[in-house]
Amino acid sequence: MDAIVFDQVSKDYGEVLAVDDLSLTIEPGRTVALLGPNGAGKSTSINMLLGLLKPTSGTISVHGRTPDQAVAAGAMGAMLQSGELIPELTVKELIDLIRRLYPQPLDLAEIVKLADLGDLVKRRANKLSGGQAQRVRFALAIAGAPKILLLDEPTAAMDVESRLRFWESMRDYAAGGRTVLFATHYLEEADEHSDRVIVIAKGKVVADGTAAEIKAGVGGHTVRFAIGEQPAAGLDRLPGVTAVEIVAGTAALRTSDTDATLNALYRATSLEVRDLTLTGADLEDAFLALTREP
Ligand code: ADP
Ligand code: MG
Repeated sequence: MDAIVFDQVSKDYGEVLAVDDLSLTIEPGRTVALLGPNGAGKSTSINMLLGLLKPTSGTISVHGRTPDQAVAAGAMGAMLQSGELIPELTVKELIDLIRRLYPQPLDLAEIVKLADLGDLVKRRANKLSGGQAQRVRFALAIAGAPKILLLDEPTAAMDVESRLRFWESMRDYAAGGRTVLFATHYLEEADEHSDRVIVIAKGKVVADGTAAEIKAGVGGHTVRFAIGEQPAAGLDRLPGVTAVEIVAGTAALRTSDTDATLNALYRATSLEVRDLTLTGADLEDAFLALTREP
């Protein structure tokens, strides 16, 4: 049975259509990134999955049950974008509090190990750094041994070192065959830490696959060269070219036909082309192409 199913789900906040006819299916055991720019509808989707918001239309199921039933059964744990820790409790007290709400929680020692909390357990919540507090929030999300873990922009307050440690913790947790869905607007995070990327923009799925598939789907290459002060008019009319961007004296041409573009660039223009490089589409190109305003 599928872990998560969205079937034609929409959610509006009055005027704003935050999620627009979203359908997707996630199999158990996968680690999936929900990638999209700010305002794409990531948090709204995750909050609906947890039963915190009700869809305006459509249905969501979690292991064949409603979100409310799945939450009541202890099937989901979550790290949401907002959410305070109770400041006067110690980390251990907080974890114990959450563990007792779940039918079959993890052992305290295992939670501490997975969340990399070490000797923070006696620390009061109001004495934690931003990164430490995020690790505690991760600990609370996994405390109940949920089969499905939802993480909404989990690394937002973390420095580079904390991020690395955090993603290791996530992998360790996912390795037990659990399903992880994390929201991010960082391409590298989606690329490096998931086995499937669902790209959403304006509440709709615009791409879905492995990071490699998404890059390949956008296809083409980027030709970059120094153009300096030379007039760049007409570059967009070269054969194969699908987009032109000129930033700080460097021209970047996206092309679906590298040979045709380069031939024409050298033969049919009088530009002095220097420092030319050719790269395949990366996820960033793909993301920009997919989420660009029409
Ligand atoms: P993301 O998490 O991808 O940044 P959100 O799901 O938070 O996106 O928001 C999606 C859209 O819905 C945005 O346009 C946002 O401004 C709007 N939105 C989110 N929450 C509310 C709310 N409580 N009331 C009105 N509009 C909202
Ligand atoms: Mg959000």
